[in-house]
Amino acid sequence: MSDNFDVIVIGGGPAGYPAAIRAAQNKLSVACIDEWKNRDGSAAFGGTCLNAGCIPSKALLESSELYHRALHEFATHGVKLDGVSFDVETMQKRKGGIVRGMTQGILTLFKGAGVTPLTGHGRLLAGRKVEFTGHDGARRILQAKHVVLASGSEPMPLRGVDFDGERIVDSWGALEFAAVPKRLCVIGAGVIGLELGSVWRRLGAETVVLEALEQFLPMADGQLAKEAARHFRKQGLDIRLGAKVTAAKVEKDGVHVSYADAKGAQTLVVDRLIVAIGRRPFTRNLLGEGTGVVLDARGFIQVDEQCRTGAEAVWAVGDCVRGPMLAHKGKEEGVGVADLIAGKYGHVNYNAIPSVIYTAPEIAWVGQTEEQLKAAGRAYKTGSFPFAASGRARAMEAGAGFCKIVADAASDEILGIHIIGPMAGELIAEAVLAMEYSASSEDLQRTIHAHPTLSEAVHEAALAADKRAIDIPNR
Ligand code: FAD
Ligand code: NAD
Repeated sequence: MSDNFDVIVIGGGPAGYPAAIRAAQNKLSVACIDEWKNRDGSAAFGGTCLNAGCIPSKALLESSELYHRALHEFATHGVKLDGVSFDVETMQKRKGGIVRGMTQGILTLFKGAGVTPLTGHGRLLAGRKVEFTGHDGARRILQAKHVVLASGSEPMPLRGVDFDGERIVDSWGALEFAAVPKRLCVIGAGVIGLELGSVWRRLGAETVVLEALEQFLPMADGQLAKEAARHFRKQGLDIRLGAKVTAAKVEKDGVHVSYADAKGAQTLVVDRLIVAIGRRPFTRNLLGEGTGVVLDARGFIQVDEQCRTGAEAVWAVGDCVRGPMLAHKGKEEGVGVADLIAGKYGHVNYNAIPSVIYTAPEIAWVGQTEEQLKAAGRAYKTGSFPFAASGRARAMEAGAGFCKIVADAASDEILGIHIIGPMAGELIAEAVLAMEYSASSEDLQRTIHAHPTLSEAVHEAALAADKRAIDIPNR
């Protein structure tokens, strides 16, 4: 096999593997190096997202939600069950099968596109050489015309709280529980804390979520965050805001979690503790001497708007660079870079990256919040539509939540769409497309939405922005 490639991608997660595939589609010779090892020692492409993030968490969210609905909702539909029970082992096996299928699928995609997969460690050296050390220990020096760094991120540790892989775990550990903990604590009411807290809460764990900030979901629209907090608390998630964790220790009777809130020092004893306080860029042993690649103060690889590192023909994409740590953001960067390398147009619209939290109800948004627009002094108008007024949502027994559109007061351009409710993560795609095309709320108003669908909520919210909603009173 040749040791010379047009493009070498280091990292085979959702940023790296699409970069490799697109580069191969652009008729370049490509290798993709990935060092991921599963707990059983097997190598797998797909990175955090496919192996220990997006996909396994959604598999468990789906299983636990089905159980929860069978327990609490089926009777409303007149569906009678003689007792409902669940089996964590089956849920975990199903999850494992989905993950295996998806990660092995990447190898099939590589084969089809002509990408050379290399399992092991990659290290960038000066002059776009890459030192590759296979999982078998064999070392080779490869040469590339372009290198794409896509090394991803890792969980942020918390001082005073040491992972033991058993009682005190990170998000990967929390996806692997073999049984439902009776008492669970999650540190951090961020996306991971809410999604994984929901999984285990639905299956019966008494779940406390400790959040250092006083404000719940500060990155989301305020009205959305308020509605979300109300639903999560109703579901039994004990979310304690302004609770800063200082230490945790494993004792005989459980994990003793120490935290400080407005009332002073507090202690909580639980069976399992999940630390989900954010992620940090992963660049350990990635860069050799004299590469010219620079890390910023927080450890992210410095890049410009087009993901150029500043070192000639070395690019970086995904969680290891600035911007939201999201799989779809990394994918767009990877594909964009692969097109730029081939001399084509490559562009990521950072103003239209959707965020989704896969709880029930789901939460999704794109663009700016009312709070951000107020702070910027921009005049805007809003239109909202509650799912309680949607026939389809009511038929689904999913009338909680709303869709809100924020548009410029003068030009009517859509500035943000914020949804909490059924399938919000799917509905947001229309909002992203609208923003991508710089649509006005009138454009959405004049777009026919099938009846009865959840998407009518987006349509009616757009109409409400001009007080022309049909299915709710206009105020
Ligand atoms: P990664 O996925 O971390 O992949 C990097 C890869 O590079 C890894 O396989 C790593 O082993 C490899 N690597 C690193 N250094 C080297 C090296 N020197 N040599 C060889 N290989 C190397 N995002 C969403 O958009 N939606 C979700 O629903 C979602 N859910 C999540 C749930 C959880 C529990 C977690 C933890 C994250 C979730 N995320 C989600 C975030 C998402 O997983 C990340 O944004 C995404 O994986 C980043 O992709 P990446 O390719 O940049 O990095
Ligand atoms: P996060 O940044 O979303 O939330 C971490 C939370 O922990 C914050 O609210 C923070 O204030 C809190 N915190 C920090 N230190 C604390 C302390 N000492 N005590 C109590 N609380 C503390 O991070 P995350 O939930 O770990 O997720 C990491 C990344 O993974 C995110 O950037 C997210 O984008 C990504 N992710 C995305 C999805 C999705 O798209 N659905 C799902 C999971 C993860």
